[in-house]
Amino acid sequence: MSAEAITPDRTHAHCRSCDSTDLTIFLSLGNLPLSDGLLEPRQLVDNEPRYPLDVAFCANCSLVQILETVPPEELFGADYPYFSSFTDTLLRHSEANVRERIAERKLGANHLVVELASNDGYLLQYYKNAGVPVLGIDPAPGPVAAAREKGIETLQAFFGNDFAKELVAKGRRADVIHANNVLAHVADTNGFVAGIATLLKDDGVAVIECPYVKDLIEHGEFDTIYHEHLCYFSVTALRALFSRHGLYVTRVVPLAIHGGSLRVFVEKQNRPEQSVQEYIESEQRLGLDRLDYYADFSKRVDQIRTELNDLLHGLKDRKARIVGYGAAAKGTIMLNYVGIGQETLDFVVDRNTHKQGRYIPGVRLPIAAPERVLAEQPDYVLILPWNFKDEIMAQQAEYRRRGGKFIVPVPRPTII
Ligand SMILES: [Zn+2]
Repeated sequence: MSAEAITPDRTHAHCRSCDSTDLTIFLSLGNLPLSDGLLEPRQLVDNEPRYPLDVAFCANCSLVQILETVPPEELFGADYPYFSSFTDTLLRHSEANVRERIAERKLGANHLVVELASNDGYLLQYYKNAGVPVLGIDPAPGPVAAAREKGIETLQAFFGNDFAKELVAKGRRADVIHANNVLAHVADTNGFVAGIATLLKDDGVAVIECPYVKDLIEHGEFDTIYHEHLCYFSVTALRALFSRHGLYVTRVVPLAIHGGSLRVFVEKQNRPEQSVQEYIESEQRLGLDRLDYYADFSKRVDQIRTELNDLLHGLKDRKARIVGYGAAAKGTIMLNYVGIGQETLDFVVDRNTHKQGRYIPGVRLPIAAPERVLAEQPDYVLILPWNFKDEIMAQQAEYRRRGGKFIVPVPRPTII
């Protein structure tokens, strides 16, 4: 399905997975800037592009999705600033994942592990260190260069079925394919899954992680909805998508990372473990396969906006100094949707040196180094990537010891 099919005529949108037109919008976040498009100082004179964020449910295959498809060149351009290795939690999570796969599949020098959206090699480095051959595939030049510096063979490309066929023609097929937080990002969902089917050996396994739509809805995680993130998966929707390409979900493992995610194992043999049926049944019981389940989400999102605004305005009325922590995508959505700008936050800090000196899109808050929190000791730090709040509060233990307080916006705005 091409991007053009969806973007201009949204009243005739087709489901990204099953092509049905039976889509119902249940949340509109309005026109928002691109969440990762951090601005250079020279760009502050320009008007930024904004795109609608409307979230819809497909009554045919249960897939939750946004209707807008921003061209990938705009999303993953040369200045795409995300380097995975900057997050300790993510590295530990990845290392454990690799250890489990090596033990389970008895992987060694005669196997090949491929990661789709391999970023800077944050995951593949652990296979490489264990002597298992690896191949990374990623479209963003910065992270690809960083991976190659670590000696991790990485091809700069958007993955799809044609690309998979080229690899297979060169004699490269995968024993294990990893795809973490990428399936939801690709515009051609079916082409990507077809590519996995092509590249995977007959006895191979694809290990795919994606945020779970159940956690998004139950915990009010509306700020994980952004233009890069096209789909919001349930096991029901994933199973329909994979089975269309001769792939079967054989195991489902819940993960705490990113506010609640799924690790889904996909194979060419239909031999599901019990966990798959348990998830399907629980989703039917809760109603994830029906529109009703999503119907009041919009009201709850609106309530978070009201409560966070009231909280911040109340603090500002008492002359409190507040800064933000974490210039991640969800921060852009939270700040822009709630309407938190320079009148409320002095600045936002981020550990990623590539982000420092830039500005948050839309609200145009400057991004500084985390050391400024201790240097200036503001009264409150608003934690934007709340999924890493424990890590952030641990890093800022000294700030807290000196009497500083944190605000966590989701699931309900709370002072800690
Ligand atoms: Zn569908």
